[in-house]
Amino acid sequence: MRSSVADKHISGAERIVEYTAIDNAVQELVTRAKGKGLVPEQIAITIEFLGSGPFRMLTALDVVTLNAPDMIRGRDSASQVLHIAGVSRAAAKTAIRHLSVGSSPSGGNMRGAMIMDAQTGERLEPDRERGIRASRYDWDEETSHKIQRKLATIGLTHYRTHEALALATKVAHAPGIIAELCWSDDPDYTAGYVASLRTGYVRFPFLKQEGDDKGGRVFFVDRDTIVMNSLILYLQTEAVLITDIGECRPSIEPEDYFDTLT
Ligand code: AMP
Repeated sequence: MRSSVADKHISGAERIVEYTAIDNAVQELVTRAKGKGLVPEQIAITIEFLGSGPFRMLTALDVVTLNAPDMIRGRDSASQVLHIAGVSRAAAKTAIRHLSVGSSPSGGNMRGAMIMDAQTGERLEPDRERGIRASRYDWDEETSHKIQRKLATIGLTHYRTHEALALATKVAHAPGIIAELCWSDDPDYTAGYVASLRTGYVRFPFLKQEGDDKGGRVFFVDRDTIVMNSLILYLQTEAVLITDIGECRPSIEPEDYFDTLT
């Protein structure tokens, strides 16, 4: 689903469901499209037959929240986590700057993600206005309920965490991906995350100030090993189902988290 106003992207969401569950899924996606404050001028829902599988099955990344109390400390801790995952400090700084000012050439938010060299910070995505949208990923039904219950035990009840964890799990398993950085463009939603196979899904309550409508995603890659076409093909077209959950740890002070890694 994608919704927009005057050609400006407002929201998007992905589902993979059985043929018989299409009606319910469409209803849910329309409700999602209408729920972001702005009244959309267009809601586009594309339904594609993916065959009967087998799909790639993945276990969700482990989840932890670092209690950085404000945006400055949030971004600082996020940079450290990116560094642990294999992103240079310079590339992390460049990524944060792009997300803060609006990463499309026109200064707005992109519909998809930047692809960035994890060492130099150079942008590699073929279309800088649009970026790359990860698509065709979802929880299987049982695992979806399971992770929602598990996330609720650590206070994470927002649908955004549930959806972003599925996306981040697919992205972290992409060939050549080192890490992902994300914060939302929703002015009311200040949380964001760094995700990688090395660190899991590391969440921060504040990666931007309340009221800020700039946000986006950066997929950091190892430029020496990626084959851009294969990476894009995986992100956009390979169907991935999340069929098991990872660990969900209670929130922790950033210093304590970094201590456990040294
Ligand atoms: P959201 O978390 O939905 O607020 O999205 C925040 C930003 O992440 C958007 O402005 C896009 O730039 C980017 N984004 C959202 N969905 C995707 C996706 N499926 N693949 C890649 N980037 C995305």
